[in-house]
Amino acid sequence: MAENGAYVFPPPPRPSLPVRGTSKLFPVHRIYCVGRNYAEHAIEMGHDPTREPPFFFQKNPDNLVPGGGDFPYPPKSNDVHFEFELVVALGKGGRDIAVERALEHVYGYAVGLDMTRRDLQGEAKKLGRPWDVGKAFEQSAPCSEIVPAIAIGHPDNGALRLTVNGAVKQQGDLNQMIWKVPEMIAILSGLFELQPGDLIFSGTPAGVGAVKRGDVLEGAVEGVAELRVRVV
Ligand code: MN
Repeated sequence: MAENGAYVFPPPPRPSLPVRGTSKLFPVHRIYCVGRNYAEHAIEMGHDPTREPPFFFQKNPDNLVPGGGDFPYPPKSNDVHFEFELVVALGKGGRDIAVERALEHVYGYAVGLDMTRRDLQGEAKKLGRPWDVGKAFEQSAPCSEIVPAIAIGHPDNGALRLTVNGAVKQQGDLNQMIWKVPEMIAILSGLFELQPGDLIFSGTPAGVGAVKRGDVLEGAVEGVAELRVRVV
């Protein structure tokens, strides 16, 4: 790694997440997101929930809101949605990772919000354009601390729940994922060379909806982690 003096201006700090049980940080490389990974959410978005191959999009590592906190309502949208998701944090990378070995690559798990400018995403879908403006904007990825797998194992079931101002909006279970975590890692690693520090937002259950300034979003995945975000 080059020293700071090697750059024409100081490089920005590396995006990172807190890790439960240590003061050391998890350095984030890329953020991959899985689309339509829960049948009832696919149906609510107007799609057939049969097991088509999964598809992926990305957010930028510096879109994270580490540990939760304030989410500034973004510009150019009047329909910003929450999508509450389990996040998989990789500690080892690789290409063409076998499903049976995939979990060996997982450092831990977190919970996150895939905040979405639904109106801009909808327009992009209609015009066959990329989703970036709908998905990869500033502070669009609030994410909890990472909980190491050595502490909690590899959860394949457990309730997911998101409340807005105390009212339950999203409820599901990790066992409802169409594509399971090991399958996601295997398929992604065929498309990209995965790296330590990659995060995978694993898709959202049904019940997505719009936020307004002042809303408090509280999400939890049973046995994993919790996240609290205020829309400002
Ligand atoms: Mn999502």
